[in-house]
Amino acid sequence: MPAYEQVGERLAAVRDEIRRHGGSDAVRIVAVTKTHPVEAVVSALDAGLTDVGENYAEELASKAVQAERLGLRPRWHYLGAIQRRRLKLICQYASVIETISRPSELEGLAKLDYRGDVLIQVAPPGHHEGRNGAQVDEVASLLALGRDLEVRVIGLMGMALPGTEEQTRRYFESVRRLGQDLGIREYSMGMSADYQVAVAQGATMVRLGSVLFGARGQERATIER
Ligand SMILES: *Cc1c(COP(=O)(O)O)cnc(C)c1O
Repeated sequence: MPAYEQVGERLAAVRDEIRRHGGSDAVRIVAVTKTHPVEAVVSALDAGLTDVGENYAEELASKAVQAERLGLRPRWHYLGAIQRRRLKLICQYASVIETISRPSELEGLAKLDYRGDVLIQVAPPGHHEGRNGAQVDEVASLLALGRDLEVRVIGLMGMALPGTEEQTRRYFESVRRLGQDLGIREYSMGMSADYQVAVAQGATMVRLGSVLFGARGQERATIER
Protein backbone atom coordinates (compact mmCIF):
# COMPACT_ATOMS: atom_id res chain seq x y z
CA MET A 1 0.00 0.00 0.00
CA PRO A 2 1.30 3.50 -0.76
CA ALA A 3 2.56 5.54 2.14
CA TYR A 4 -0.45 7.66 2.96
CA GLU A 5 1.27 9.06 6.03
CA GLN A 6 3.21 11.32 3.65
CA VAL A 7 0.11 13.11 2.45
CA GLY A 8 0.44 15.96 4.95
CA GLU A 9 3.99 16.73 3.85
CA ARG A 10 3.10 16.46 0.20
CA LEU A 11 0.16 18.76 0.68
CA ALA A 12 2.39 21.36 2.33
CA ALA A 13 4.70 21.23 -0.69
CA VAL A 14 1.73 21.61 -3.04
CA ARG A 15 0.51 24.66 -1.09
CA ASP A 16 3.98 26.19 -1.45
CA GLU A 17 3.93 25.57 -5.19
CA ILE A 18 0.48 27.13 -5.49
CA ARG A 19 1.68 30.26 -3.70
CA ARG A 20 4.80 30.40 -5.84
CA HIS A 21 2.60 30.45 -8.92
CA GLY A 22 0.42 33.28 -7.72
CA GLY A 23 -2.39 31.24 -6.19
CA SER A 24 -3.86 32.06 -2.81
CA ASP A 25 -4.55 29.70 0.07
CA ALA A 26 -8.18 29.86 -1.05
CA VAL A 27 -7.41 27.58 -4.00
CA ARG A 28 -9.44 24.48 -3.24
CA ILE A 29 -7.53 21.23 -3.45
CA VAL A 30 -9.62 18.22 -4.45
CA ALA A 31 -7.86 15.01 -3.41
CA VAL A 32 -8.43 12.48 -6.21
CA THR A 33 -8.60 9.06 -4.57
CA LYS A 34 -9.65 6.90 -7.53
CA THR A 35 -8.12 3.40 -7.41
CA HIS A 36 -6.92 4.09 -3.86
CA PRO A 37 -8.54 2.51 -0.79
CA VAL A 38 -10.53 4.52 1.76
CA GLU A 39 -7.29 5.01 3.71
CA ALA A 40 -6.38 7.65 1.13
CA VAL A 41 -9.57 9.54 1.98
CA VAL A 42 -8.75 9.28 5.67
CA SER A 43 -5.24 10.63 5.09
CA ALA A 44 -6.51 13.54 2.97
CA LEU A 45 -9.00 14.60 5.62
CA ASP A 46 -6.40 14.15 8.36
CA ALA A 47 -4.17 16.50 6.40
CA GLY A 48 -6.92 19.11 6.50
CA LEU A 49 -8.56 18.69 3.11
CA THR A 50 -12.33 18.66 2.79
CA ASP A 51 -12.85 17.81 -0.89
CA VAL A 52 -12.34 14.38 -2.42
CA GLY A 53 -12.79 13.36 -6.07
CA GLU A 54 -13.71 10.09 -7.75
CA ASN A 55 -14.13 9.04 -11.40
CA TYR A 56 -16.45 6.04 -11.30
CA ALA A 57 -19.95 6.03 -9.85
CA GLU A 58 -19.66 2.67 -8.09
CA GLU A 59 -16.28 3.48 -6.64
CA LEU A 60 -17.61 6.84 -5.42
CA ALA A 61 -20.61 5.16 -3.78
CA SER A 62 -18.63 2.42 -2.12
CA LYS A 63 -15.91 4.76 -0.84
CA ALA A 64 -18.49 7.26 0.42
CA VAL A 65 -20.21 4.47 2.36
CA GLN A 66 -16.91 3.25 3.80
CA ALA A 67 -15.91 6.79 4.78
CA GLU A 68 -19.28 7.39 6.37
CA ARG A 69 -18.81 4.26 8.51
CA LEU A 70 -15.64 5.92 9.79
CA GLY A 71 -17.60 9.06 10.55
CA LEU A 72 -16.16 10.96 7.59
CA ARG A 73 -18.25 13.05 5.23
CA PRO A 74 -16.02 14.86 2.72
CA ARG A 75 -17.41 16.98 -0.08
CA TRP A 76 -17.36 14.40 -2.85
CA HIS A 77 -16.62 15.58 -6.40
CA TYR A 78 -17.57 13.44 -9.35
CA LEU A 79 -14.92 13.73 -12.08
CA GLY A 80 -15.75 10.91 -14.48
CA ALA A 81 -17.78 10.43 -17.62
CA ILE A 82 -21.51 10.88 -17.10
CA GLN A 83 -23.38 7.67 -17.83
CA ARG A 84 -27.11 8.09 -17.92
CA ARG A 85 -27.90 4.93 -15.98
CA ARG A 86 -25.49 5.91 -13.21
CA LEU A 87 -26.58 9.53 -12.87
CA LYS A 88 -28.88 8.80 -9.95
CA LEU A 89 -26.08 7.08 -8.04
CA ILE A 90 -23.72 9.98 -8.77
CA CYS A 91 -26.33 12.50 -7.56
CA GLN A 92 -26.85 10.51 -4.39
CA TYR A 93 -23.22 10.88 -3.28
CA ALA A 94 -21.58 13.81 -5.09
CA SER A 95 -21.75 17.35 -3.73
CA VAL A 96 -20.07 18.61 -6.90
CA ILE A 97 -20.36 17.17 -10.42
CA GLU A 98 -17.55 18.56 -12.56
CA THR A 99 -18.02 16.83 -15.89
CA ILE A 100 -21.30 18.01 -17.36
CA SER A 101 -21.11 18.76 -21.08
CA ARG A 102 -24.50 18.05 -22.65
CA PRO A 103 -28.02 19.51 -22.38
CA SER A 104 -29.45 16.04 -21.70
CA GLU A 105 -27.18 15.70 -18.66
CA LEU A 106 -28.45 18.99 -17.20
CA GLU A 107 -31.99 17.81 -17.85
CA GLY A 108 -31.21 14.56 -16.06
CA LEU A 109 -29.88 16.47 -13.04
CA ALA A 110 -33.00 18.64 -12.97
CA LYS A 111 -35.23 15.60 -13.18
CA LEU A 112 -33.43 14.08 -10.21
CA ASP A 113 -33.78 17.42 -8.39
CA TYR A 114 -30.00 17.52 -7.85
CA ARG A 115 -29.11 20.25 -5.34
CA GLY A 116 -25.31 20.09 -5.49
CA ASP A 117 -22.91 22.24 -7.49
CA VAL A 118 -22.21 21.61 -11.15
CA LEU A 119 -19.33 22.52 -13.44
CA ILE A 120 -19.36 22.49 -17.22
CA GLN A 121 -16.34 20.70 -18.65
CA VAL A 122 -14.85 22.59 -21.59
CA ALA A 123 -13.09 20.52 -24.27
CA PRO A 124 -9.53 21.39 -25.22
CA PRO A 125 -9.24 23.15 -28.61
CA GLY A 126 -9.55 21.02 -31.71
CA HIS A 127 -10.86 18.08 -29.73
CA HIS A 128 -13.99 16.95 -31.49
CA GLU A 129 -13.89 13.18 -31.44
CA GLY A 130 -14.89 11.43 -28.25
CA ARG A 131 -16.19 13.70 -25.53
CA ASN A 132 -13.72 15.66 -23.47
CA GLY A 133 -16.21 18.36 -22.62
CA ALA A 134 -18.50 20.84 -24.30
CA GLN A 135 -17.22 22.82 -27.26
CA VAL A 136 -16.50 26.46 -26.46
CA ASP A 137 -19.48 27.66 -28.49
CA GLU A 138 -21.85 25.36 -26.56
CA VAL A 139 -21.02 26.70 -23.11
CA ALA A 140 -23.20 29.83 -23.06
CA SER A 141 -26.33 27.88 -23.97
CA LEU A 142 -25.52 25.19 -21.37
CA LEU A 143 -25.29 27.91 -18.72
CA ALA A 144 -28.60 29.37 -19.87
CA LEU A 145 -30.22 25.96 -19.75
CA GLY A 146 -28.79 25.40 -16.27
CA ARG A 147 -30.42 28.63 -15.12
CA ASP A 148 -33.75 27.70 -16.70
CA LEU A 149 -33.68 24.29 -15.02
CA GLU A 150 -32.46 25.74 -11.70
CA VAL A 151 -29.40 23.52 -11.71
CA ARG A 152 -26.57 25.19 -9.75
CA VAL A 153 -23.90 25.65 -12.41
CA ILE A 154 -21.10 27.44 -10.55
CA GLY A 155 -18.05 27.00 -12.75
CA LEU A 156 -16.06 25.57 -15.60
CA MET A 157 -13.78 22.56 -15.56
CA GLY A 158 -10.79 22.06 -17.85
CA MET A 159 -8.68 18.96 -18.30
CA ALA A 160 -5.70 19.41 -20.61
CA LEU A 161 -4.58 16.79 -23.06
CA PRO A 162 -0.96 15.74 -23.05
CA GLY A 163 0.93 18.53 -24.79
CA THR A 164 3.48 21.28 -24.32
CA GLU A 165 3.30 23.57 -21.32
CA GLU A 166 2.46 26.44 -23.67
CA GLN A 167 -0.49 24.54 -25.16
CA THR A 168 -1.72 23.73 -21.68
CA ARG A 169 -1.30 27.34 -20.58
CA ARG A 170 -3.24 28.65 -23.57
CA TYR A 171 -6.05 26.18 -23.01
CA PHE A 172 -6.45 27.10 -19.32
CA GLU A 173 -6.26 30.78 -20.24
CA SER A 174 -9.03 30.30 -22.82
CA VAL A 175 -11.28 28.51 -20.30
CA ARG A 176 -10.74 31.36 -17.84
CA ARG A 177 -11.50 34.03 -20.49
CA LEU A 178 -14.62 32.21 -21.61
CA GLY A 179 -15.83 32.00 -18.03
CA GLN A 180 -15.06 35.65 -17.31
CA ASP A 181 -17.15 36.72 -20.29
CA LEU A 182 -19.99 34.60 -18.93
CA GLY A 183 -19.73 35.78 -15.31
CA ILE A 184 -18.32 32.52 -13.97
CA ARG A 185 -16.24 32.51 -10.77
CA GLU A 186 -15.09 28.93 -10.21
CA TYR A 187 -12.47 27.20 -12.37
CA SER A 188 -11.45 23.61 -11.76
CA MET A 189 -8.24 23.37 -13.77
CA GLY A 190 -5.04 21.44 -13.22
CA MET A 191 -3.98 17.98 -12.11
CA SER A 192 -0.68 16.73 -10.68
CA ALA A 193 1.22 17.37 -13.92
CA ASP A 194 -0.07 20.87 -14.64
CA TYR A 195 -1.60 22.46 -11.55
CA GLN A 196 1.08 25.16 -11.35
CA VAL A 197 0.22 26.27 -14.89
CA ALA A 198 -3.49 26.16 -14.04
CA VAL A 199 -3.10 28.22 -10.87
CA ALA A 200 -1.12 30.84 -12.76
CA GLN A 201 -4.10 31.08 -15.13
CA GLY A 202 -6.60 31.57 -12.33
CA ALA A 203 -7.71 28.10 -11.27
CA THR A 204 -9.80 28.21 -8.09
CA MET A 205 -9.78 24.41 -7.73
CA VAL A 206 -7.12 21.86 -8.59
CA ARG A 207 -7.71 18.10 -8.73
CA LEU A 208 -4.71 16.22 -7.40
CA GLY A 209 -4.11 12.47 -7.24
CA SER A 210 -0.57 11.22 -7.77
CA VAL A 211 1.19 14.27 -6.31
CA LEU A 212 -0.57 13.53 -3.00
CA PHE A 213 -0.91 9.74 -2.99
CA GLY A 214 1.86 8.51 -5.29
CA ALA A 215 1.44 6.77 -8.62
CA ARG A 216 -1.73 4.80 -9.19
CA GLY A 217 -1.60 1.14 -10.10
CA GLN A 218 -3.81 -0.35 -12.77
CA GLU A 219 -6.50 2.13 -13.82
CA ARG A 220 -9.95 0.66 -13.39
CA ALA A 221 -11.52 2.22 -16.47
CA THR A 222 -11.69 -1.07 -18.32
CA ILE A 223 -13.23 -2.90 -15.38
CA GLU A 224 -15.96 -0.42 -14.55
CA ARG A 225 -17.14 0.68 -17.98
C1 LIG B 1 -7.43 11.16 -12.30
C2 LIG B 1 -7.89 12.55 -12.46
C3 LIG B 1 -7.27 13.62 -11.81
C4 LIG B 1 -6.03 13.45 -10.94
O1 LIG B 1 -4.95 13.03 -11.72
P1 LIG B 1 -3.44 13.10 -11.17
O2 LIG B 1 -2.64 13.21 -12.41
O3 LIG B 1 -3.20 11.85 -10.43
O4 LIG B 1 -3.34 14.31 -10.32
C5 LIG B 1 -7.79 14.88 -11.95
N1 LIG B 1 -8.88 15.11 -12.72
C6 LIG B 1 -9.51 14.12 -13.36
C7 LIG B 1 -10.71 14.44 -14.19
C8 LIG B 1 -9.02 12.83 -13.27
O5 LIG B 1 -9.64 11.85 -13.95
